[in-house]
Amino acid sequence: MSEPLLSVEELQVRFQTYAGRVHAVNGMTFEVGRGEFFGLVGESGCGKSVTGLAILGMIPRGGAVASGRIRFHGEDLLTKSDAQMRAIRGRHIAMIFQDPAATLNPVFTIGSQIVRVIRQHTSISPEEARRRALETLDAVALPDPPRIFRAYPHELSGGMQQRVMIAMALSCGAELLIADEPTTALDVTIQAQILGLLAEIRRRQGVSILLITHNLGVVAETCDRVAVAYAGRVVEVGRVEDVLFRPVHPYTQGLLAALPRAGQAKESLLSIPGSVPDGLALPSGCAFHPRCASAVELCRSGEPALTVVGPDGHRVACHLFRREGAA
Ligand code: SF4
Repeated sequence: MSEPLLSVEELQVRFQTYAGRVHAVNGMTFEVGRGEFFGLVGESGCGKSVTGLAILGMIPRGGAVASGRIRFHGEDLLTKSDAQMRAIRGRHIAMIFQDPAATLNPVFTIGSQIVRVIRQHTSISPEEARRRALETLDAVALPDPPRIFRAYPHELSGGMQQRVMIAMALSCGAELLIADEPTTALDVTIQAQILGLLAEIRRRQGVSILLITHNLGVVAETCDRVAVAYAGRVVEVGRVEDVLFRPVHPYTQGLLAALPRAGQAKESLLSIPGSVPDGLALPSGCAFHPRCASAVELCRSGEPALTVVGPDGHRVACHLFRREGAA
């Protein structure tokens, strides 16, 4: 890959809570190329959403980046001031959240909300901003853009609201869209339409997309590359055809084996034994070792590093591969 647009390096995020220090992100490392559709996948609590918020400088109160780097266009976002990050958010990097109804302001029309975002980040006139807002509503295939422009959020369906959020994200020409579970609140047919729209936008405008999801099927359908996260760090990363069709890490293999197949009897459904570790008390060594059927003694004490196991940057963090000399 040429120089990536976004590079997250050994990112660590901690939250101070009444119960103690929560280790939410623990050495997250991945890159997103220019024009790439990249998936960050994992179970709830694996640190993927916190990573998305860290990229935008929006970690909730009580949390902070402990170490690491987040480079965008080669510049470390973690060294930027609040004012500089406000200028980058929306203008260069935009986020699409899971629940558009909770993100849109119910008392303002769709048009006024998009115009406000455009005018916040550019110096164009109100009339020009209005024209651009109508263009972006048209670009996300919303029918009758002038009507949508005048509508309030409650007058639109969930799928239309999510299209508005995508239009808002694109209205200032963002180069990177972070989409955090953008289709989870939608029914299956609308999900497919929104994913198709994101793929089309990537193709047409060359925008990079970081898709944060728990859904491996969605990743398989849309992404070029994927990183599988567990306990706040990446355990396997590579092209979708390598990671999802020739998985190497025992956790990735477990996730894929647990996917239900059409016609499969309920009793034969598989699951990974145990549960996601508590960020207050992460297991030593490889955080997956209490659930891993392949664990060896070293797994309890040493944290495995990401190691190249195949072509095109297929990497895995597992002692078995280091022992077998696959690197
Ligand atoms: Fe399992 Fe050990 Fe590999 Fe972790 S390092 S996934 S515990 S074999």
